[in-house]
Amino acid sequence: MDKPTAPKPGAMLHLRGNTLSEGDPVALPLTHSSMYHVPGDWNGGPSYGRADNATWEHLEHVLGYLEDAPVLAFPSGMAAITASLFATVKAGSRILIPSDGYYVTRRLSERFLQNLGVEVEQRPTASFAEGGFEGVDVVFAETPSNPGLDLCDLRAVSDAVHAAGGLLIVDNTTMTPLGQRPLELGADVVVASDTKAPGGHSDVLMGHLATRNEDVLQAARDWRMIGGGIPGPQEAWLAHRGLETLEVRFDRMCNTAEVLAERLAAHPLVQQIRFPGLASDPSHELAKQQMVRFGFLISITLYSAGQADAFINNCPLIRAATSFGGVHTSAERRARWGDAVAPGFVRISVGTEPAEELWSAMAASLDALQT
Ligand code: PLP
Repeated sequence: MDKPTAPKPGAMLHLRGNTLSEGDPVALPLTHSSMYHVPGDWNGGPSYGRADNATWEHLEHVLGYLEDAPVLAFPSGMAAITASLFATVKAGSRILIPSDGYYVTRRLSERFLQNLGVEVEQRPTASFAEGGFEGVDVVFAETPSNPGLDLCDLRAVSDAVHAAGGLLIVDNTTMTPLGQRPLELGADVVVASDTKAPGGHSDVLMGHLATRNEDVLQAARDWRMIGGGIPGPQEAWLAHRGLETLEVRFDRMCNTAEVLAERLAAHPLVQQIRFPGLASDPSHELAKQQMVRFGFLISITLYSAGQADAFINNCPLIRAATSFGGVHTSAERRARWGDAVAPGFVRISVGTEPAEELWSAMAASLDALQT
């Protein structure tokens, strides 16, 4: 099978425009309503704000175009991940999750799913397929993993999971649908935090679930409607506005990350670097096969926690912040959250600043560490 390609972002920008009538607003209207006018018997139309909202439905339409699959929007990435698991597991199920992925997915599994009688197994992303998937009902993968940026082979994992009778969910947050296409590589469900690059301006939390599996889609929709974890219309509107410039931002961020990774790798203070686009990266060959882009996250390891903090805090073009994917380059020392990484490990999220201006600032901050 050929490597999947990204959908056409120009057509995405005109999805709504091509349905407009004379005098309609070109920008997406913001519908704030908990009630809808429903006289007489209900005919299946919008009825109540927990079930229907035109603004989030349009966000789903655009995300659905990007994913090439039906999409449900959620108020955060974790809400989408929670929905994907509650839609697919039951007491007695066995699930496999990454031991080195986003730590809140592990907390969800350990703090809640285990108490409900779900057996939870963990494996590192780089050796995810080792040991096979026999007897595992739901496999949850994250590639590149956050924060270590290890990869697993999505096509091989999905083939093996399906041969063993299981279902594969992929957290595609670090890549967005423009950078990696898990459904095309065989995954059953994609979940993502749109708080990151899709929102892009660090001003909104949002998430989505995409699947062509009708049973999972219906269960996740019921989970959202019955559980009540729905996106707010204002947030959906902001996320939609972010999506309209995703292609431009993502392209710039990925291009800049490729430039910076080469230069960071050559810097004498950088002990280790992970970026799937570097020819020297252990995942580079796999990255070339399965990723559309190499992403905008780079992780570097400096000699100590003190050096890492100084590098981040003394660089005027890096915001010291958790999260990633925004227009502002940001970075953080992940050991501060207890991730199993070296004390000097820094995850850098490359923003939209011009590459040379950003590199000058980063290089100056790194060089100052030597003195
Ligand atoms: N998945 C990954 C890989 C993440 O990095 C994050 C947040 O950092 C999430 C999911 C959760 O997203 P949210 O914060 O929107 O709930």
